Amino acid sequence: MNIGFDLDKVFINYPPFISPRLIDRFYKNESAEKLTYRIPNQPEQIFRNLSHLPILRRPIKNNIAFLEKLVSNKNNKYYLISSRYSFLRKRTENVVKKYKLDAIFDGLYFNYNNLQAHEFKDDKIKTLKINIYIDDDLALLKYLATNNKSVKFYWLNPQVQKKLSTNLFAITSLQGVFQN
Ligand SMILES: [Mg+2]
Repeated sequence: MNIGFDLDKVFINYPPFISPRLIDRFYKNESAEKLTYRIPNQPEQIFRNLSHLPILRRPIKNNIAFLEKLVSNKNNKYYLISSRYSFLRKRTENVVKKYKLDAIFDGLYFNYNNLQAHEFKDDKIKTLKINIYIDDDLALLKYLATNNKSVKFYWLNPQVQKKLSTNLFAITSLQGVFQN
C-alpha cells in the first residue's frame, strides 16, 4: 500500500498563541463556491516566514513516534505530500532535516511550484498511486475524496471520529487509520 501524509498539523504544529482559524483564513477561501488557496503577497510572506521560525513550529511527537513505528512495516510505501509554497522552501528543508523526516519517508513532495493546494495534492495522489491519505484540512479532503473514489482519506482533527462519506473518515489520532 502507498500511504500519504500531510505535514502541517499532522507532524508539525501551528505556532502556539495564534488561532489556527486565522492561519487557515490567511491561505484558504472556503466561502467561495470553488475552493481556492492564495499565495501570500511579499509583506505577508515575511510574516509567514517568521511564523515558521523553528521555535514556533514544534513537532507533534506522538505522531512522529507513531510514524517511526509504522514505517518498520516494509510492505508499505510512505510519502509526505505537503502544499507548502516555494517561499518557505528553506524553512521547510530545515524542519524536515531537524526531525529526520527525510530519513523516514520513501519520498517527500512539496508544492514549490505554487499550485493550488488541492490540485497539487490531487496530482500527487494520482501519480504516486496513493491508497490512503491523511490531512487536517477537511475542505481539501472533500475535494480529493470526490476526485479519487478508490482512495481512502482521513481527516485528522481533535474532536470527531466517524465515517463522513464512503471514502472519507474523521479520526482523532493516527491510530484511527488502522482501526477500520
Ligand atoms: Mg496541514
